[in-house]
Amino acid sequence: MPGNHFGGGHLQQQKVLINARRLKDTIETFADFGRTKNNGVTRLSLSKEDIDARNYLVSCCEELGMTIKVDDMANIYATMPGASDKPPVVMGSHLDSVKKGGRFDGVLGVLAALEVARTFRDHHITPKIPFTIVDFTNEEGARFDPAMMCSGVISGKFEKSKMLENRDTEGISFKDALAASGYEGKIGNRLKEATAYLEMHIEQGPILESESLNIGVVEGVVGMVNYEIEVDGESDHAGTTPMSMRKDALFTASDIITALRTKLNRLDSDLVYTMGRMNVYPNIHTVIPNKAIFTLEARHKDPEVIRQVVQTIRELPRKMGGCTITARKLWSRDTVAFDQDICDQLEESAQSLNYPYKRMYSGAGHDAQFIASYLPTAMIFVPSVNGKSHCEEELTSYEDCAKGVNVALDTVLAIMSKY
Ligand SMILES: [Zn+2]
Repeated sequence: MPGNHFGGGHLQQQKVLINARRLKDTIETFADFGRTKNNGVTRLSLSKEDIDARNYLVSCCEELGMTIKVDDMANIYATMPGASDKPPVVMGSHLDSVKKGGRFDGVLGVLAALEVARTFRDHHITPKIPFTIVDFTNEEGARFDPAMMCSGVISGKFEKSKMLENRDTEGISFKDALAASGYEGKIGNRLKEATAYLEMHIEQGPILESESLNIGVVEGVVGMVNYEIEVDGESDHAGTTPMSMRKDALFTASDIITALRTKLNRLDSDLVYTMGRMNVYPNIHTVIPNKAIFTLEARHKDPEVIRQVVQTIRELPRKMGGCTITARKLWSRDTVAFDQDICDQLEESAQSLNYPYKRMYSGAGHDAQFIASYLPTAMIFVPSVNGKSHCEEELTSYEDCAKGVNVALDTVLAIMSKY
């Protein structure tokens, strides 16, 4: 990035660093809001645990003299004023978790932002432009469908009126949960402009750990397609129908799956694909299956590879083994590319701090992918031990958490230094 000034080795001693001990304590304090027996967290969106965590976050931010605003989707923004009132640098993620999730997913990104603000305070730094911490509501979609609901609404991806009607398993609508939460704010408070949006998150995969890296500079979120493939055959008696006279939907589906795997494996080594659901009918052991339906989802950063996946699906035979084959696209999502300037700066920050890093794409969805549609955005990943996430075993070493926040802080300061 031109004009950057962190290259000189002599400046490295002067780098402002975060308080790693305080970060660890804060992560553990927040894990108490919904901590499970096995040291995980259940903190569903707008539950009592989530509201307790929100209240505590707000009190921590108020202690720093930050101004709190809440929008109509209960997204919280805490802002530290800057020397000028340019659009803020915004940093955050989500405080909600899945059921029996971990202590890091989401909350780490919010607490990273809090630690950056606290470090400003420690070092009597007045940010050159305002600094805002954000907590996006209902990122996980674990209580109310869909995931990334409220970053989705403010970025125009989802319709608010539809979201309000979505209900949890107890029949409570998002609208009612919002009203009861005490966090239903004004539409005018929605995040509209920012100099940058930065989200730190656990990787939720095994790559950084397996390559002994501390930092992932996330350049975007991979695109994906999701298809449903239906095989229709005929049911007959399992004992009386000779093999040569059957139209067995499951056997044909199995042949198709094998053929698909052979073809998809040839496409690109970074392609990931999953056949995660299969329904077999009538699903009785004495009856030859007359129908098998399975899903095929595939993810890759390059739209051309995704196009080849779609092509492979389209080239499936219409008839096979006496059965009819139909493929239906359920939905797709384009690859989201993050802001290259912010990625370059993150890379420089990681280099200047001597933390091993790599540029990578996210295979999972995050609030940042929606925010990227209208604000300059990037993400930082820190390693997930054994790649585990969305479970109680989810773990990132506190050392890696601290390194991630140091990279974030350095990048925030570098971005602000241009103003
Ligand atoms: Zn998350």
